[in-house]
Amino acid sequence: VVLEARGVTKHFEVRGRKGTSIVRAVEDIDLQLHRGEIVAMVGESGSGKTTVARLLSLYYEATSGEILLDGKLVDHVSGKRARDYYAQVQLLFQDPFASLNSLKPIRHILGRALRIHGRARSRRETEEKIHELLRRVNLTPPEQYIDKYPHELSGGQRQRIVIARALAVEPQVMLGDEPISMLDVSIRLDVLNLLKKLRDEEGLALLYITHDIASARYIADRINVMYAGQMIEGGSSEDVIQSPQHPYTRLLLDSSPDPARGLDGDQQSLFDEVGDLGEPPSLITPPKGCRFNPRCPFAMEICNREQPEKIEISPGHWARCWLHQEGKAHLLRQETIRF
Ligand code: SF4
Repeated sequence: VVLEARGVTKHFEVRGRKGTSIVRAVEDIDLQLHRGEIVAMVGESGSGKTTVARLLSLYYEATSGEILLDGKLVDHVSGKRARDYYAQVQLLFQDPFASLNSLKPIRHILGRALRIHGRARSRRETEEKIHELLRRVNLTPPEQYIDKYPHELSGGQRQRIVIARALAVEPQVMLGDEPISMLDVSIRLDVLNLLKKLRDEEGLALLYITHDIASARYIADRINVMYAGQMIEGGSSEDVIQSPQHPYTRLLLDSSPDPARGLDGDQQSLFDEVGDLGEPPSLITPPKGCRFNPRCPFAMEICNREQPEKIEISPGHWARCWLHQEGKAHLLRQETIRF
């Protein structure tokens, strides 16, 4: 395990006209990221998945819980220790244009990342490493890109530069917060394939955060599903897609383009629009008991009263849903569910 979250919770205090409220952004997040593994965190907007990325990148300080890197506890760090952490854990942003300095050419952007983290000592070594980075992200020949400015590149090329800049630091982990959602559909697949290549050839660990379960299946070894600030199901991508064990995962799958179609060649369908998922609940006054209960066609009396515990359904595949304890899991296997 390279990066781990144990019971991580983040609450925000928000001051309004009626006084102070608590936003329960994420609660009790348990997550393990292994070397050479892509783990997806899937959920609709407002489910808390971006907060998880920000907690793991130390942008937010957790209200409670622990984050461990290489088995060592990470306190809220600053100075050199923060730099050491960022050298291991790099965040990829959604908007490649906003995260690159538009006034500087690629040589400067990559050279700066190499120098700040002491990855190149001389001008010659910097130049060689920039060429190598451009090749690793398939921007070849490097001479064609090195003197360009971000605005002279396409969206997909810019995202490759963002990935190259993260690689310059030689991290163990990348946190990709919707890294393809602002790119043209035609180039999203190229970026996903590049991330897979970095996993396979360089042993990189990636947390892939997305609202889109079809692209998660394409790229990830394991999928975690988030709803209203909580993780509600997790397992291997195949288990979660083929045999969802929580009604919300079924809703996500029923609203998505058929994820299997994308694997059979019609890869554009991986990025078809996700259907309407309805309104997510408030994180200031979340529903009592299971947070999905107001939208769940199977809600029982206990669901309105008590939060379901995590239950393991098969090795490595778990869900939080009372249907399993109440002997009603077969309801999830119906061909059609009316949400
Ligand atoms: Fe539905 Fe109850 Fe399961 Fe929640 S715990 S998803 S309300 S059946």
